[in-house]
Amino acid sequence: MMKPSQRLYVAADLGQNQSVALDAGQAHYLAHVLRLPVGAAVLLFNGRDGEWLAHLSQIGKKGAEAVCAEQTRSQTPICDLDLLFAPVKGDRTDTIVEKATELGVARIRPVLTERTIVRKLNLERLKSRAAEASEQCGTLFVPEVHDTISLMSLLDPKAEVRRILFADEAGDAMSVAEALADKPARVALLTGPEGGFTPAEREKLRASPVVRPVNLGPRILRADTATFAGLTLIQSVWGDWA
Ligand code: SAM
Repeated sequence: MMKPSQRLYVAADLGQNQSVALDAGQAHYLAHVLRLPVGAAVLLFNGRDGEWLAHLSQIGKKGAEAVCAEQTRSQTPICDLDLLFAPVKGDRTDTIVEKATELGVARIRPVLTERTIVRKLNLERLKSRAAEASEQCGTLFVPEVHDTISLMSLLDPKAEVRRILFADEAGDAMSVAEALADKPARVALLTGPEGGFTPAEREKLRASPVVRPVNLGPRILRADTATFAGLTLIQSVWGDWA
């Protein structure tokens, strides 16, 4: 059976002969962009029940419906990896969300630091950007996109215990491989804003027992490049590439 190329993220449960409602945006895309007729096959996933081949049973203005025929992939465990990033100017923040999704993070948390310029984010737009990236890259879940948090809340002893790899371009930092040599269960990558972290922030981060300062090579990377490089290194030594 030739697998259809169109994948759609849905919130509904998926199962044999399950009828699944698709929203107006998805219906419009299927009917008017892809010009798919009733009966056409699509792939559905919801982050819980794996991926299912389904056939369109109805397409209308307000929505569409698809009926699940067979499971094409079972749900695989999600890598417990977070991206903590200081939002950056322009559409680079959207690009960071898209690439972090492709690189397999489970959660995306924008972090407000002293030098963070962009402090207001359109979360709904970032969430749909993550869903689109998940549909395109073949993953079986959409990462959670959380609201902004303050840097210091990460260091709150009551916060969840997670190994935080602090991307620190100021030198005297270890490699990502060293920082993950003891294979911690939960990991996060923290990257700074255009202007970097302040000395006071750097000091507090380096004093925290859950934080490991890591270097991402000898050059000063742009904030978005730093997220891509850091996540790639983490996935290659600790995550679902290893
Ligand atoms: N502070 C720098 C400055 O003086 O302009 C630049 C900050 S850099 C554009 C943005 C963030 O990317 C940094 O806060 C850091 O988290 C990360 N970063 C960039 N290059 C890095 C490197 N070589 N090693 C580790 N982190 C790096």
